[in-house]
Amino acid sequence: MAKKDNVYCSFCGRNKSETDIMIAGMDAHICNLCIEQAYQIVLEESAGKSTKTNKKQSKFEIKKPREIKAFLDQYVIGQDFTKKAMSVAVYNHYKRIAQEGADANEVEIEKSNIILAGETGTGKTLIARSIAKMLSVPFAIVDATVLTQAGYVGEDVETILTRLLQAADYNVEKAQMGIVFIDEIDKIARKGDNPSITRDVSGEGVQQALLKLLEGSKVNVPPKGGRKHPEQSFVEIDTTNILFIAGGAFSGIDRIIGRRLNMQAVGYNASKNEDQIDKENLLQYITPHDLKEFGLIPEIIGRLPVLSYMNPLDRETLRSILTEPKNALVKQYQKLFAIDKIELVFEEETLDFIVDKALEYKLGARGLRSLCEAILTDSMFDMPSEEDNKLVITKEYAMHKLSKTTLHKLKAAS
Ligand code: ADP
Repeated sequence: MAKKDNVYCSFCGRNKSETDIMIAGMDAHICNLCIEQAYQIVLEESAGKSTKTNKKQSKFEIKKPREIKAFLDQYVIGQDFTKKAMSVAVYNHYKRIAQEGADANEVEIEKSNIILAGETGTGKTLIARSIAKMLSVPFAIVDATVLTQAGYVGEDVETILTRLLQAADYNVEKAQMGIVFIDEIDKIARKGDNPSITRDVSGEGVQQALLKLLEGSKVNVPPKGGRKHPEQSFVEIDTTNILFIAGGAFSGIDRIIGRRLNMQAVGYNASKNEDQIDKENLLQYITPHDLKEFGLIPEIIGRLPVLSYMNPLDRETLRSILTEPKNALVKQYQKLFAIDKIELVFEEETLDFIVDKALEYKLGARGLRSLCEAILTDSMFDMPSEEDNKLVITKEYAMHKLSKTTLHKLKAAS
């Protein structure tokens, strides 16, 4: 066998010292760079073949909007307006894919990317995730706050597609039909028009970079993510059929909406009488213009044509979230205990108490979980080693367990 330093890649001729990994075969060696390049060729070839044979045949059955909504109802409580808007948008999106290329002269249906405005913890991610689950398409969540424009410290926007590619097990064709949820889109708002400045410089630059992805184009994606560099190999992804759902809390936008509504109310075109305006939930009157004033550039708003909002979660909704969804928290804990042959029962007043605490601490739906954990941790620790096969959570028990937890801890966990 050759001496360690005299090993060369049989494909590109690089010396072992110039590479990270050199793999030995029978009479040859291959370096990590050539492996990556070869892998990309394999991906492109297989993607090319499958698109040729299968272009118009979508891999999933298109569900009708009512069916989509019914599916969402199993997981998401309330938010009917958004569930309906999303069902239609998703239906249209996949109908558009199915139609694609049918006839060049036909009317071209535009993409129905979606933007959701609503406080944190109101179910934006949950809706997006549930839709992906229903369609069995790859789904990736990315946080807009980590994105920066090229040249700054952070991630390039292309890494959004890296996540999707990873979720699709590197199957390019599948990734090209996936759904991407871009969280915290409001944090890349332009500085000037944004009343709640939380971040600086590159917001607008990131928005510009995102445009390319949203509108549908061929993008070179680093399969492993990170910054682009010359020696890296890329996978080309066409974003034409990727559905983008952007979400954000847009905190402070209610003031913009309120101001606009007040102006309308006194103007000639007064469409809404001030008395009719539900001041508690101004988000329901949101328009693309408000997003512009908040600091999203018009081009981005144009590429996210379906705008919807999330209602704040009231007592009744929080109560339902605890018990009703298919994977409701209470059902999840009951299942966990059932595995140890323990029947777990929450008394009704305990559930009311948990909701009260979530409201009192302003913890929202995410807080329900932290509260349940705080109440049940001791039992989950002890009971598997004990004889009891039933646990009834009374209000007193819950109060006692919570009194041992500090609010501070709960807030940190939510
Ligand atoms: P957002 O993306 O709006 O910040 P999430 O979708 O991540 O909020 O919601 C956080 C958690 O709260 C979810 O995992 C879910 O358990 C619960 N939740 C929030 N809103 C709802 C809802 N409308 N119906 C059911 N569960 C909800």
